Amino acid sequence: MKRILMSMICVVLVAQSWAQGTKPVQANKSGINYENMDQSVQPGDDFFKFATGNWIKHNPQPPIYPMWGSFTKLDDDNTKAVAGIIQDIAAKRNQAGSIEQKIGDLYLLAMDSVRRNKEGAAPVLEEIKKINAISTREELLKYMTREHDNLLWSLYIGVDEKNASQHIVSIGQGGLSMGNRDYYVSDDPSVVAIRKAAIKHYENLFKLCGYKKKEATKFVKTIWEMETRIAKASYSVEQMRDPEANYHKMTVDELSKLCHGFDWNTYLRNYGYNKTTEVVLGQPEPVALACEMIMNEPLENLKLIYIFRTISGASSYLSDDFIAENFAFRQVISGAKQMTPRWQRSVDLVSSVLSDAVGQMYVKKYFPPAAKTRMLELVKNLQVCLGERIKQQSWMSDETKKVALDKLDAYYVKIGYPDKWDDLSQLVVDPQKSLYANMIEIGRFYFDLDMQKNYNKPVDKNEWQMPAQMVNAYYNPTTNEICFPAGILQPPFFDMNADDATNYGAIGVVIGHEMTHGFDDQGSQYDKNGNLKAWWKESDVNAFKLATEQMAVYFDSLWVIPGELRSNGHQCLGENIADHGGINVAYDALQMAQKRHGRLPDENGFTPEQRFFLSFANVWAGVSSEEILRYLTINDVHSANHLRVNGGVAQCDYWYKAFNIKPDAKLYVDPKNRVKIW
Ligand SMILES: [Zn+2]
Repeated sequence: MKRILMSMICVVLVAQSWAQGTKPVQANKSGINYENMDQSVQPGDDFFKFATGNWIKHNPQPPIYPMWGSFTKLDDDNTKAVAGIIQDIAAKRNQAGSIEQKIGDLYLLAMDSVRRNKEGAAPVLEEIKKINAISTREELLKYMTREHDNLLWSLYIGVDEKNASQHIVSIGQGGLSMGNRDYYVSDDPSVVAIRKAAIKHYENLFKLCGYKKKEATKFVKTIWEMETRIAKASYSVEQMRDPEANYHKMTVDELSKLCHGFDWNTYLRNYGYNKTTEVVLGQPEPVALACEMIMNEPLENLKLIYIFRTISGASSYLSDDFIAENFAFRQVISGAKQMTPRWQRSVDLVSSVLSDAVGQMYVKKYFPPAAKTRMLELVKNLQVCLGERIKQQSWMSDETKKVALDKLDAYYVKIGYPDKWDDLSQLVVDPQKSLYANMIEIGRFYFDLDMQKNYNKPVDKNEWQMPAQMVNAYYNPTTNEICFPAGILQPPFFDMNADDATNYGAIGVVIGHEMTHGFDDQGSQYDKNGNLKAWWKESDVNAFKLATEQMAVYFDSLWVIPGELRSNGHQCLGENIADHGGINVAYDALQMAQKRHGRLPDENGFTPEQRFFLSFANVWAGVSSEEILRYLTINDVHSANHLRVNGGVAQCDYWYKAFNIKPDAKLYVDPKNRVKIW
């Protein structure tokens, strides 16, 4: 699958979707539900609680969600809408080879736990047998390349960031089953506890495949030691956010030299990338170390890692004991109380694996053309207001402003769904084979599709990087595009029946957020054509760095878990800048709309400006388990939901004015110290 550098508003948010054919429950014309507020709190002391404190009372938390809020609720409603489509198809007799047959049979395979429990570990044992039969290093490498399994690094067709209209084979760090280096090297007691649980989980997966406890313990010790070596050389999430430090273009010969003589020419040729002479290497140190290990570690150890990856990759498609084991481990990480029901896991699988087919049906059923027209208008207004804000910045020179405005004008806007969908006619779902065997075949299909579409080909800007049915949005710096899939264009983000104060506070801030990503600490390093290239005057870069550092330091001081865990202001810097720009720009756009159409009336004692901020906060309403807060603080580039609200408003002059916030308020930041970026 294609990986790109993208900054998304992500994580989790409200409401009944039109997807279910019901209208949102709204006590008021504006679209704000005042019952969600907790007015016993002063807005200046804890705006998140003031605006959303009672949301949870009206929206009880289902035990499957360790993080539950407006966002998750919309996501949950949306899953039910997608489920309706998939289950209807699965209930019918479909013509062999039709897209309906593929959707229906994949869903039924995923639902058929009786069959999977009968099969047990058998489907994966066949694969393990093949790996065990490997007797030389050359054979191992041939096997890896044929199966497109990269044990200790990642390899994919990416975009050449310094020549952004072209694809290029890209290599980056990998080889960590836990994903993030911190899980191997951190001394934090909560991480140490997860490490212990992970080791036990790995052992249990081996045991479920029939290995004895003693063997499993020995195997996992070897695997963990190898992964820890790679982890020590790997980049942190924060280091991965520096585009220049993660871009090293070179010939394949140079790559081999850097990797202690590992023969990348042969590896790439066998992999299918047989015309590749130049590559982009993301993280030289961990990849070079991984190559050294592939050449020098005992073959048996490498086979062990391979076997473990195979078991762990297969485990979600095997019998219920594997599923239960995976959930037990996820509970430690997330604090989830109950497993997601089988129908929901099956719907999620089909929706992601056959994404374009399901997406096409979804938008036909649920996405009204009027929503696209209204969104285009909102985007245009936000674009005008961000342009005005750029012009007004006192820290930026006129020359840089001119180029910035050009970049803003060049934004490629995508709304709802793609014009062209992936052709899935050659994808096969065979109900006679196991779910796992089907997933392997589907993986091969997507590898071939990626080769056809992208290998040595120019970048097609019309490709979407997110499914239409997804509740999310993104900015992609290498195509300079902002994208809002149909899934997010529903209440509480976007409500055709709500007034401008509500819509600008919710979807308006989301649009402004994605637009600002083009000018955050990462996005600002790409030009209007998506090339990683310096286009700022040096004095402007320095002024910008001062302001963004102030933002990072401010968020560093905020508590994710009071008294225990603080936010990581540098890891979340891009997202916090995007939120900051998003709030300011959307607020300006609301004022512009009110100038044009007349001022909105007050409602329930709240001005339109106050409702704008209430609507913004409502998007992030909800609760999170401590486990998930810790997990996100290690892995995510977004601040915790309550900090996106409280930290976001405390840096926004308009909020102080709207709620008449005084210096004695707990969230108060002195105007001298407030961040002025966009
Ligand atoms: Zn973002």
